[in-house]
Amino acid sequence: MSLDLSLDLVVALFVAAAAGWLVAQFRLRDRAPRPTVPEPPPRPSLPRSQEPPRRLNEEYLKGLGFLLNEEPDKALEVFLRMVDVDNETVETHFALGTIYRRRGEVERAIRIHENIMARPTLSSEHRLEAMFALAEDYFRAGLFDRAERSFRQLAESDARRVAALRYLLRIYEQQRDWDQAIAVHKELTALASPEQPTAIAHYHCELAEQARGRGEVDAAREHLHRARDVQRNFPRGALIRADIAIEMNQPELAATLCQRVVELHPRLLALALPRVLRAVRGNDAGEIERRFNAWIRPEPSARAELAYAAIVAGLEQETFVRDCLPDLLREDPSLGEIVRSVAGDPGQLTPQQRTDLAASLGRILRRTQRYRCVDCGFASASHFWQCPGCRSWDAFAPVALLDVTPGMQRR
Ligand SMILES: [Zn+2]
Repeated sequence: MSLDLSLDLVVALFVAAAAGWLVAQFRLRDRAPRPTVPEPPPRPSLPRSQEPPRRLNEEYLKGLGFLLNEEPDKALEVFLRMVDVDNETVETHFALGTIYRRRGEVERAIRIHENIMARPTLSSEHRLEAMFALAEDYFRAGLFDRAERSFRQLAESDARRVAALRYLLRIYEQQRDWDQAIAVHKELTALASPEQPTAIAHYHCELAEQARGRGEVDAAREHLHRARDVQRNFPRGALIRADIAIEMNQPELAATLCQRVVELHPRLLALALPRVLRAVRGNDAGEIERRFNAWIRPEPSARAELAYAAIVAGLEQETFVRDCLPDLLREDPSLGEIVRSVAGDPGQLTPQQRTDLAASLGRILRRTQRYRCVDCGFASASHFWQCPGCRSWDAFAPVALLDVTPGMQRR
């Protein structure tokens, strides 16, 4: 343990111990009858539960001494030996457990919270709090079986139900147990507004993807129906239906689904484009290709968006990218400035220069993180429906091309 860490712990424990001592003093004072006559001399000894916590402070000082000497295990033993964990001193033990957990010393936090749980005189509220803290320790330690059991038990109590269900949801998401996640999400929705309303539609989509992976198209469609029941116009469901349509040789349906996704969720253009092109390529191009050409609208900003999304999707060699590239260079001032400095007006670039430039941009983007979470900033080369950093759903968007361009909003 570093000195900084020790000092942090010491300061926090000192504050916690002082707070516990003060609370104990106030409670003792409140409990004592108000004297109407001069106070009698102190009784020689009080029952143990009413004894001022002087001995407790001595124990703490001993524990703090071990911490200062960078002997956290001995300190822990001192704190665990302290038998005076009761309703008046328990807060200091909770504080110690929280500090250990925040420091990543989960095993120590578990021992502290198990120690609290073992005390027979605790109030039911403190026992519940200790059980919750222990369940959080298990979760943090990756002991999901134990965490699940504890949170299941806590979900039975009125006071902790919502918080326990939220943890259960995180456990099932991490374990990719989508059936359980759906059930818990429904329970939560009945009690409180869910933190992430679209999550349940994603769970159905995950099940649909699993069914597709097993070749069970009908089961996949059934899961997609359920996704649509809980979330209308859900783009991920539409994209999976487009994938199925391509496999079932229904290119028009695939193109229609993708077009609808982009109309409602423009930032998903980079996910829709490759599907549309697959639909076009695998079949009689005629009608569908004309439909795709309708995507290339005359407005420069729309053409720039299309070119950028195609480069993000690895489609930089497509003819339409070359055609739309000058618009991207005009819309992206940083990139446009670089090009102008070496080749003049972007509109005057030869077809070969545009092709070469698109290929370069594609190579650059492949070496960088093309997507970023708008909630926590986690960046990745691939798109995720759920951010691996903060677990938010639907938070990933393509990053700006040079990431210094304030003018273009690509979210
Ligand atoms: Zn995130």
